[in-house]
Amino acid sequence: MPRTTPDDRATTPRRPHLPLRPLWLCRVCAAPWPCPVARLTLRQEYAHDRIALSIYLCAVLHDAAADLYRLNPHDGPDPATLFTRFLGWAAPRGGQASGVGHAE
Ligand SMILES: [Zn+2]
Repeated sequence: MPRTTPDDRATTPRRPHLPLRPLWLCRVCAAPWPCPVARLTLRQEYAHDRIALSIYLCAVLHDAAADLYRLNPHDGPDPATLFTRFLGWAAPRGGQASGVGHAE
């Protein structure tokens, strides 16, 4: 089920940076997804619920690993690299008091 832009928000980016499967490159900027813009968008979207973000990214990582290994069965991506790419950036760290959130 693809995440569509929530219709109850006015902060929707002009063109959502969504992954192009099964390559997992950004549809807009062609960077390996999640690209910096996609990460920023996800951070904002899940600012109130970082656990949900981690769960979502776990599911994405699962799908991406399956796709990427199917594309490159002999030269697949390193699991640690995939983890860092999909989950490492979102891992809650000690000082994440960025001031984001508390919108309502
Ligand atoms: Zn992008």
